[in-house]
Parts: sequence; C-alpha cells; structure tokens
Amino acid sequence: MQDESVPAVENNPDLIACGECDLLVRPVEAKEFAHYSALCPRCGAQLYHHSSHSLENILALAFACLVLLVVANSFPVVGLNIQGQHIDTSVLDAALQLWRVDMPEVAVLVLVTTTLTPFLEILGIIWLVLPLMLGRRPPAFAQVFRALQVARPWAMVEVFILGILVALVKLSHLAEVLPGPALLCFAGLMLLLTTISAIIEPRDLWRAWEEARA
Ligand SMILES: [Zn+2]
Repeated sequence: MQDESVPAVENNPDLIACGECDLLVRPVEAKEFAHYSALCPRCGAQLYHHSSHSLENILALAFACLVLLVVANSFPVVGLNIQGQHIDTSVLDAALQLWRVDMPEVAVLVLVTTTLTPFLEILGIIWLVLPLMLGRRPPAFAQVFRALQVARPWAMVEVFILGILVALVKLSHLAEVLPGPALLCFAGLMLLLTTISAIIEPRDLWRAWEEARA
C-alpha cells in the first residue's frame, strides 16, 4: 500500500517524514487489513507497518526472553577440562573474578551489557505492552518508550556471544572446552531480542495507547 504525497507543511502533526528521503507524507490507516506496510511513494522505503497480532507476539517473546535471561545467568556459559580438573564459569562468576583481579570497570561493563540492560529492556517492553493489551494506559508511557530507545544499543548480547565463541576456539588448543547451557540461552536471547525490535512498531503502540483508558 502506498501513501499519497502531500505538500510540505511545517509543524503539521498529521504528517510523517520518510526516514530515507525526508518526503512528508500523510499516514493512511487500512484497518480492513490484518497486516500491511506503508511505503514511501518517492523512494519506496518502508514508512511503517501494522500487524493485528503484534502486541500479543511482542509480549510472548518478551516473557520468553525473561525466562532465557534467568536461565542464562543461572547456568555455566562454558566449562573447561584441564588436566583432569573441571571448571565451570557463569557470567556472574566471570564478573566477580574480574572484580577480584582489580578490573572493576570491565566487570561492571560485562554485567551491564549482558544482563542488566537486556533485563531492563525486557521489563520496559512488558511494562508498555501488557497494560495496553488489557486496554489500560501504562504509567510513564512516553518516558519508558524513550528510555527503551536509549538503552537498546547498550544490550550487547551479540558481542558477548561472539567474544565467547572466539575464546572457545582459542582455548581449545589448551584445554577441553565444553559450551554450557547458558551459551545456548544467550544465543536464543539474541535471536528473540532481534525479533522483538524487528516487529515492534511505535505507531501501533501509540495507537493502542490512544484507544486505551487512562
Ligand atoms: Zn522516501
């Protein structure tokens, strides 16, 4: 579906700008369709998309993320067999060890990027979506929405997974390296968080907020 382009009018709240070519267009709702995407009439970039199931899907994925994050922090990420000795390490153990060897900045960075930020991001998504699904407006909707945009780049589960894989390959010459259950959970968490950011559509959330009771 394509929108009609309209003359540029400054400060018109009914217009949105194409993210690629800055063309101002008037959004059109197509409520008769369960799923649709609006494309820029000039450059063809996607302006917004709508899915009637997106709130339910986002909430289900967010709860799945929460379970994966708890499991990922409760089990070892990696185990090592060195000369008959077995050593397991979880993320919390690794951060604690970094703190002990006088690297508190790295310890905090590991915890913030792999655990704290994803946890706050998931809680923020549930905070926004759960009340909207029940027809209520979540408190501090706009502030939490903006905080999510700021926090997203700091959730670096992908970087963590990549670092672990590089370490596994390097350590495999020195010891028998056994990937732990937490590694699979972090991989799943990475995929689910990416899926949520792909299907979350700010317009749908704001529309649900407008239709919800205060
Ligand atoms: Zn465009």
